[in-house]
Amino acid sequence: METKKIKQAIIDKKDELIALTKDLIRFESISGKEDEISEYIQDFFKEINFYVRSIDKNVLASEKKDNKDARLILNGHMDVVPAENFSWDYPPFDPQIIDEKIYGRGSCDMKGGLASMMFAIKILHGLGIDMGSDILFTATVEEETGGVNGTGKIVGSLNGEMCVIAEPTDLGICIGHKGSNIYEITVKGRSAHGSMPQLGKNAIYYAARMIIALEDFKFSIEDDLLGQPTMNVGKISGGTRVNVVPDRCVFELDRRTIPEETSKSVLDELNRIVNREKANGVEAEIKNIIEMLPVKVSTDEMIVRLLKKSTKDVFGYERDITTMDGCTDARFFINKNIPTVIFGPGKKDCAHVSNEFIEINDLVYASSSFASLITEVVKNNKKN
Ligand SMILES: [Zn+2]
Repeated sequence: METKKIKQAIIDKKDELIALTKDLIRFESISGKEDEISEYIQDFFKEINFYVRSIDKNVLASEKKDNKDARLILNGHMDVVPAENFSWDYPPFDPQIIDEKIYGRGSCDMKGGLASMMFAIKILHGLGIDMGSDILFTATVEEETGGVNGTGKIVGSLNGEMCVIAEPTDLGICIGHKGSNIYEITVKGRSAHGSMPQLGKNAIYYAARMIIALEDFKFSIEDDLLGQPTMNVGKISGGTRVNVVPDRCVFELDRRTIPEETSKSVLDELNRIVNREKANGVEAEIKNIIEMLPVKVSTDEMIVRLLKKSTKDVFGYERDITTMDGCTDARFFINKNIPTVIFGPGKKDCAHVSNEFIEINDLVYASSSFASLITEVVKNNKKN
């Protein structure tokens, strides 16, 4: 089927796409509280006679029963970050449309993307396109808190050939992002009375020196696509009272990694920086709390080529190949050798902020692009 015809079908039913997006935003699906939105999405697919499975609130929907070998997996997360402690001009969970934009928590990250995918499937179903076992839609939980119970839980049973995740990329074709290793560093000194600091070892001072050394550190490696690694000390706590020399200070480091690095090389480097202070009789313990691997997909991969073609058909020109700064669930698929790209509506800097919004026009283009991609995949398979 021609992309033009599909796009027109989506434009004709734009109001339905807007209503779907607003419905998804209304659920206060903070990570861990995705029960209701999960039910809603399951019902959505049951209504178009898809087989729906739910694994701990994660939704898997396909035209074929127990589909595990889809050619294309469409993935998105249902959870959002909290809306409190942000100053909103609009109610975060009661979506408002102003100047062709829908405002609300999760509109950009990533209920707009989820709605675009769901709507693309519904439209194609309505147009009589047989998606059979080629297409599997997955909506997952707890991406914002690491994804282990979400995509991490369901990926083990999947054997897709390729995957697209609808996180906001401003409709660019994102083929990579850095990884993130979170470390907790505990500095242990010796306590003493605040009036006799010379008798103690002030853990805060030593932690401060380590942190400055981390700030001053110059990376010597670089990835052609992702650039250099980065690090950020984002949290610190230490001391009990002002008149006590603190014997303990803990800080957390977010180390963004590139594919050229390994867990060991990153830890060794961190040890070297931190250990310089150990010579002064202070102990530092480094604990790796979270490890999220970097993602980099070759532009020769089928998913990149198909998405390039299908978006060109929709937009009339080639979309940019991009990278993104944050981590996504893509790493779970890549670990399973399922080439994955990230493509979705929404400005990258609009996620996790107050007055988060999605442009209605972007929803239409995203949904048309997903529909065009699905038809490419289905068509491609029929030829084989
Ligand atoms: Zn997201």
